[in-house]
Amino acid sequence: MATGTLTIDLDALVQNWRSLAALSESETGAVVKADGYGLGAAKVARALARAGARRFFVAVAEEGAGLREALGPGPEINVMSGHMAGDTDMIGDLALTPMINNVDQLLRHVEALPGHAFGIQLDTGMNRLGMEPAEWAAIRDIALAQAPTLVMSHLACADEPSHEMNRAQLAQFAEITGDIDAPRSLAATGGILLGPDYHFDVTRPGIGLYGGLPFDLATPVVRLELPVIQVRDLEPGETVGYGNSWEAADPTRVATVSGGYADGLLRALSHTGSLWHGDTPCPILGRVSMDLIGVDVTHLSETPVALDILGPNQKVDALATDAGTIGYEILTSLGARYTRRYTGG
Ligand SMILES: *Cc1c(COP(=O)(O)O)cnc(C)c1O
Repeated sequence: MATGTLTIDLDALVQNWRSLAALSESETGAVVKADGYGLGAAKVARALARAGARRFFVAVAEEGAGLREALGPGPEINVMSGHMAGDTDMIGDLALTPMINNVDQLLRHVEALPGHAFGIQLDTGMNRLGMEPAEWAAIRDIALAQAPTLVMSHLACADEPSHEMNRAQLAQFAEITGDIDAPRSLAATGGILLGPDYHFDVTRPGIGLYGGLPFDLATPVVRLELPVIQVRDLEPGETVGYGNSWEAADPTRVATVSGGYADGLLRALSHTGSLWHGDTPCPILGRVSMDLIGVDVTHLSETPVALDILGPNQKVDALATDAGTIGYEILTSLGARYTRRYTGG
């Protein structure tokens, strides 16, 4: 085993979906963009479909095409970038549902694929995707006459429950969609946790399914074990890694593990992060290299065969904090070199 082993617990994923579903009375969808937050969209979506998920969300049409192949006909696959130029064949042939973001996309859609399902994405202040309120006011009667499958917007600050932006976006969304029949959706993981006012008809959790904050009751889904390639003993004054940036003050036992920034183990973990041997943390020594990390194992009573960088003792957000980032980035950066094992599902 020369590469790390990434174990993805599909039972934990399904349990997280069920837990998030139990927090609202709404239909609970699943966001599987970016290859299911790096964990494999096909496997993730099939497990969730078996558990009862019927609406999936991806970022772009190409992801939707792969997902349709994995899921077969039936489940709704919503494309959040909408109907972009060049996507018509994919949207039409594979029964994808674009979330229309502006008038140009609406015209493209109804002209190229008349009668084909679509949803509407509204901007309520994040200024990222979706129609502006004035644009929506101008075309809403035309759009609503075609029975959109969903009318959605996205919260910018849902991971900060007390942020005033949440109530402002909720008020805006309620105002501009108050009198429509189409199903409405505002909440991703953070929005679900903000409570029933935010739930509307459909929720769209992503990160919480995969074990990340802000869903602090999530069950961890990933374990990442890195094999130890070599162990050596250093004298005081010897150094580890590029730039001699760590120097031993005392006799030190260093394990070199297989895995580095090319595998998504961010270089920002240099000097700060830890790997784990069972319940014992083992600090990273020196700089993270492209394919290798030096780890202090002086305090272990045995020579480890492998060390965990993600697992029950170090969840994605703990590693993210050490790297100065968020769990989303840790997951979606996980590299292609790992041996991937799926359990449960
Ligand atoms: C990514 C995304 C989601 C899922 O968000 P999480 O915070 O991962 O739950 C939902 N809706 C939209 C529009 C998104 O871009």
